[in-house]
Amino acid sequence: MAKKKEIANFAAPNWLEREDDWLAPYAMRTKHSRGRRHAEEPHAYRTLYQRDRDRIVHSTAFRRLMYKTQVLVTQTNDHHRTRLTHTLEVAQISRTIARQLGLNEDLTEAIALAHDLGHPPFGHAGETALDQCMHDQGGFEHNLHGLRIVDLLEYRYADFPGLNLSWEVLEAMALRGKKADAPEIREFQGAGQPLLESQVVDAADSLAYNTHDIDDALGAGLIVLDELQEVDFWLRTSEQVRRHHPQMKPEQFQPTVVRALINWQVSDLLEHTQACLRREQIHSVENVRSFSRSLVGPGPEVQDLKSGLEEFLHQKVYHHYRVIRMAVKGARILRLLFEEFCRTPELLPTRYARKSKENLHRTVCDYLAGMTDRYAQDEYLRLFQPYANI
Ligand code: MG
Repeated sequence: MAKKKEIANFAAPNWLEREDDWLAPYAMRTKHSRGRRHAEEPHAYRTLYQRDRDRIVHSTAFRRLMYKTQVLVTQTNDHHRTRLTHTLEVAQISRTIARQLGLNEDLTEAIALAHDLGHPPFGHAGETALDQCMHDQGGFEHNLHGLRIVDLLEYRYADFPGLNLSWEVLEAMALRGKKADAPEIREFQGAGQPLLESQVVDAADSLAYNTHDIDDALGAGLIVLDELQEVDFWLRTSEQVRRHHPQMKPEQFQPTVVRALINWQVSDLLEHTQACLRREQIHSVENVRSFSRSLVGPGPEVQDLKSGLEEFLHQKVYHHYRVIRMAVKGARILRLLFEEFCRTPELLPTRYARKSKENLHRTVCDYLAGMTDRYAQDEYLRLFQPYANI
């Protein structure tokens, strides 16, 4: 009976009003947003940032992350990380951190889900190849391209181009860009430091890929467990794991250490960031904006251990000959496709051929950057292999 009464009295919460109940003073509130480029009616029960998150998940660019390289080309095996699963891990970790710090979890999630939308096929090798192809035309950088996707290239909504995301999500994407003088980010540069919600995603991105790249490198046989004995972070974590789980089966060792590594980094990040916010007397978004540097990050000990792990990844994984082979092959495919489409724009699908009349190079670059690894490989075969289907 009591339960029935409870349900009868349940009133759907007004999330907008309740943000003040649970958000910390330094969190971004929906009601303070600068809004969207194209004005829209508010939704009946989703906040601005919840809608941003949903629009990102429903976008074509988001679904294509499934077949885009993180470190290993997507066909390597069926369970290593792709851009999509990396993005989901970053979103989960970011939400945990945001919730614990009293930040706006919806905004954090939207920023996390959008953070890699602009990646071309074949990972950083693909990005460098497109940047070289576009050298005289403004270059290519994945954060800026992500901005272009959500502002212009997605075409799902009749009333506006792109996804019409909130200013805060666009700002987070723009400020991650490596080209500080790019004209498209000028409008986002005046507000000061990124919001804490954005700083959290940056930190979660870095701790997620460091850890899962080790896991994937072991899984793909690029490294063996013995080599990790030289990495302090791995060594100390695995000793703790062995102490806590003396009966562990051998196949459980690797996933348990990987989980413990993430847990250690997240706990340390929370502890250090909370201490930093207290020490620096951060009581508002304005305090965050006007502070001299980022406020979210690991403590000095974990930062040191993390640097050792990154050093190992650079030497043993990112420069492994099998990774280099995939990278060089991917870059070659993109370069040859770029040259071929620029030489003969009539080869482009109709929609792109039409757009290429206004700006040939950027249109070809948009087409290539939107491709997944396997689509780019298939397109290469269709154009260059005499007997391939076209
Ligand atoms: Mg990332």
